[in-house]
Amino acid sequence: MSVLELQEVDVFYGDFQALFKVSFKVEEGQTFACIGANGGGKSTLLRTIAGLQRPSSGQIFFHGEPVDKHPAHDRVGMGIALVPEGRRVFPSLTVFENLQIGAYGGRKGDWNTDSVMELFPLLKPLVKRQASSLSGGEQQALAIGRALMANPHLLLLDEVSLGLAPVVIKRIYEAMVHLVDTGTTILVVEQDVQHVLTVADHVACFLEGRISLEGKPSDLSSEAITAAYFGM
Ligand code: ATP
Repeated sequence: MSVLELQEVDVFYGDFQALFKVSFKVEEGQTFACIGANGGGKSTLLRTIAGLQRPSSGQIFFHGEPVDKHPAHDRVGMGIALVPEGRRVFPSLTVFENLQIGAYGGRKGDWNTDSVMELFPLLKPLVKRQASSLSGGEQQALAIGRALMANPHLLLLDEVSLGLAPVVIKRIYEAMVHLVDTGTTILVVEQDVQHVLTVADHVACFLEGRISLEGKPSDLSSEAITAAYFGM
């Protein structure tokens, strides 16, 4: 059974349609990458899976169960965690407090403040610091750590490497590999196509709200990906 399945999902903002009949499956242990130009609908997709946006039609299944009736906080308890675009940490709270909040309503499991610090040692000396005083890379590590505190089965990552220093991006990508090795399934939205294809075992390209190409990176030529990306 797939971890996640979308069947013909349509999402609107008022009269504007952001996703058109989007269907795909994410299998256990996969790193599934969503790529595509700005405005393709990738963030909308992740927000819809997390329960922050409501589809006007279509269905979403998590481990074979429809989740459409479950609000976002229920989905965290079911094992779906989102790291939203733009490192939305709680600025006035400490690193430790941000992590504690991540555990609220989540599942029981191996992730706790200690194991998050092991994954991102850069957070260790910052544990009592206010999140607003952290660098962009530190905030991103904290945002990922906070999502992990809910012990997700499916982790949704939205542009987690955007604007970060190469050394931090490297650490985040290493963390992704570690997460998959320890049983997490990842759905990642990424602007850096070359980089994400080094870790993804499945890729879907979004163009104006539709999947323009989908498959294993090894089966797709760079010409096909470029054409799907730009709609040529
Ligand atoms: P980006 O990389 O720029 O974040 P994306 O592929 O993630 O792009 P979305 O952010 O999902 O795309 O946006 C898809 C479309 O929906 C865009 O045309 C965007 O302008 C529109 N959109 C997104 N959020 C809203 C909103 N809250 N209200 C109205 N339109 C929105």
